[in-house]
Amino acid sequence: STPGPVTDDTPVSTLIIKPKQKIVMLGAPEEDITSLQQAAEVAPEIQDDLDIVEEIDPPLDQQPIIQERLQRRIASVEPKILNPPRPGKKLLVLDIDYTIFDLGSAAERPEQLARPHLHEFMSTVYQHYDLAIWSATSMKWVEVKMKELGVTTHPDYKITFMLDHKSMLTVNHPKYGVFDCKPLDFVWAKWEGYHKGNTIMFDDLKRNFVLNKGNGLVIVPYRKSHRNREVDRELVYLKRYLMVIVERGEEDMSVLRHKHWRRYI
Ligand code: MG
Repeated sequence: STPGPVTDDTPVSTLIIKPKQKIVMLGAPEEDITSLQQAAEVAPEIQDDLDIVEEIDPPLDQQPIIQERLQRRIASVEPKILNPPRPGKKLLVLDIDYTIFDLGSAAERPEQLARPHLHEFMSTVYQHYDLAIWSATSMKWVEVKMKELGVTTHPDYKITFMLDHKSMLTVNHPKYGVFDCKPLDFVWAKWEGYHKGNTIMFDDLKRNFVLNKGNGLVIVPYRKSHRNREVDRELVYLKRYLMVIVERGEEDMSVLRHKHWRRYI
């Protein structure tokens, strides 16, 4: 049949695509997946997070350009706030992709890609920690993912806030090049109750902690969920770590050597 004018309702399958013409499927997560995987591939590898800041003089977090960018983010970006902070609680900031979710695998249902023991972990640590999500993707993806995984609708815990790439900061590291990181100072500027002493962030990428190396815990990436669904117990052990920190009455979490958390429990 002769194609009519193209409207919003025109099925993609009926469109006549010229050779080399690019089409973008709006809302298709594959777009995000591809760009994320490409980003992950070109991302510089960082050998040891303990060395990152000391090597540079002045340290990255004291460089005026970094401070300037940070202040701009703080002034212009609003977090997605879901629930009020609870006085006296510590703060756990969680990355999504490969930290609590296997981005690289296919499954029939999204919850099959959730890291095992996720809800049990969240429900338990919620007793003492406010929970936040910080992903390098877009807020739309964050919202969809968290809903699909049942994180934002769970009856036993609540998410305090969510952040996306807009709150991240580009740094130029003399050794590791240009990349975006997650500056916790953004969080500490937005909320009075959260500070260096009561915040911990889990991420599978060390470079995300480059400005806050004392507050980051590098989690083993969760991949190949079809194979690891039955065996991955990281969140069971990390739940214990977070609870031991509380039981021992640790006042300043930034002085704990999170790198050795397994030894600590
Ligand atoms: Mg990740």
